[in-house]
This record gives sequence, structure tokens and C-alpha cells, in this order.
Amino acid sequence: MSAAPSRTAIVTGGARGIGAGIVARLARNGMSVAAIDLDVDALTDSLERLRAGGAKAIALKADVTDECAARNAVSEVAQRLGPPVILVNNAGVARDVDLEIMAIEDWDAVHRVHLRGAFLMTQAAIPFMRAEKWGRIIQISSISAQGHAGRANYCAAKSGMHGFVKSLAIELGMHGITANAVAPGLIVTRMTDATAARRGLSLHEHLADATLRIPVRRPGKPEDVAALVAFLAGEESGFVSGQVIYVAGGPHD
Ligand code: NAP
Repeated sequence: MSAAPSRTAIVTGGARGIGAGIVARLARNGMSVAAIDLDVDALTDSLERLRAGGAKAIALKADVTDECAARNAVSEVAQRLGPPVILVNNAGVARDVDLEIMAIEDWDAVHRVHLRGAFLMTQAAIPFMRAEKWGRIIQISSISAQGHAGRANYCAAKSGMHGFVKSLAIELGMHGITANAVAPGLIVTRMTDATAARRGLSLHEHLADATLRIPVRRPGKPEDVAALVAFLAGEESGFVSGQVIYVAGGPHD
């Protein structure tokens, strides 16, 4: 059996949380990985550990909502690591507040990162995927796409991602490119701290309460999301496209 080819992956928002977990997992699977984030300092130690283990991994500072920065970052990855044929649009922000008092800046900020950022990064990466006749586009969505009080901006943006990947799946499938969304439930990261604070609870209280509603009775870890992303980014997922796959410990609100 021939070995799987070594591919190059980009993970946006790869400096911390779920993104850092995806970077580590793809690198361990033998891919060359570029983490793109606003601030990549947090990643320095873990990248050194990955490189010491033989991985090819780099970090680039870029704002995915900036057209020029997004395109330049994708080109730099191509020059340094080879054609980026795997793109994980993971960068995200939350500005949770009830709709009646939501500032337009809170609406725009969330849409800019999740949708404009994904659009710019995907458009910049597609030519490399088409040239290789192979590509994997993975959007990190959320269980919140199903609706969540106080998060109308975030829920609308995440639902928008679902239409985005379904359209890309149809538009790009003939070129060997798949597009899917991974929708996590509660994954313990810095974003969880913000949710706990919004509910007026300590992190411990928030996790204890939220875990009661999760069928498998535990919160998720970045590694839980990274495992599914690794499958979707790999050679064996070529017949899975246009899907939204939940990583949430079972159905719940
Ligand atoms: P996180 O720890 O806050 O990480 C998000 C990363 O994205 C941060 O490093 C952030 O940079 C970066 N980022 C934000 N705006 C950016 C931009 N314009 N350009 C480049 N990078 C940018 O959050 P997380 O919990 O790991 O979330 C990762 C993804 O999973 C997000 O899309 C989120 O919506 C989704 N998600 C999370 C959960 C959860 O429970 N944690 C559940 C469902 C879905 P800075 O830190 O410098 O701002």
C-alpha cells in the first residue's frame, strides 16, 4: 500500500483553543501545517515541540478579515510549505448580547471574522487546490447554529457557514475538492470563560450545569474536534462533502 501524500494545511485562529488542537493533530498526522492568527506568540512553545518531533509547522500573523493580509498569508504558506490544499477556517469571535441591545459593531464583528474571513481565505486557497485537483475545506461552525438566546449574531454567522460549505461542495466537487462544516458543542477553551462570565457563573459552575445537558456527560476538548477535522482533512473522506457534522457529545440544546 502506498503512503498517503504529505499535504499542506492552513488552520486559521490556530494559536489557541480548538485551532491549536487542530494544528497539533494535523502535524502529528504528517501534514505540513501553518497556523494563522492575530497573535501567534502563544503558539511558540507548542510549535517548537511539534518541530522537535519532526513536524513541519509554522505560524503566521494575519487578520483573516483583511483582504490583503489573507491573500499574502496564503501565498506565503505556499512558498514555505507547498500548496495549501487543506483549509480549516476556525478563527472566531463571540460578542454575546441580547438582540434588542446588540450594537451594530457586535453584529458586524462576528460576521466579519466568521463569514468574510472564511470567504477571503477560501477564495485565496482554491487556486492551489484546483491546481492539485484535490482539496479539503473545513469550517468550524457551532451547535449554536441551531439557535441560542443572546447569540443571534454568532448563530446567524455559523448558520451562514452551513450554506457556504454546501454551495462550495456543489461548485468545487468536480475538482476533487470537498467542503464540510464541523459543529462543536461545549469545548473548554478561552471562549468558555467568556460564556461563563456572561451567565454570571464561575467556570466550574458553568461546566457543571452545562454538562448535565450533554448526553455523554462531559464537556468537549479541542482534541475531540481535531479528531474529526483530521478525518475530513485526510485521504479517506473524499465522498463526504457538503455536510454539517456535530461534535457535541450527543444532541442537546
Ligand atoms: P478561542 O480560544 O478564542 O480561539 C479563537 C482564535 O481565533 C484566537 O486565537 C483568536 O485570536 C483568533 N482570531 C479571532 N479573530 C481573528 C482574525 N480576524 N484573524 C485571525 N485570527 C483570529 O476560541 P475557540 O473556542 O478555540 O474557538 C475556535 C472556533 O470554534 C471558533 O470559530 C468558535 O466559534 C468555534 N466554536 C467554539 C466552541 C467552544 O465551546 N469553545 C464551540 C463551538 C464552536 P485572538 O485571541 O488574538 O483574538
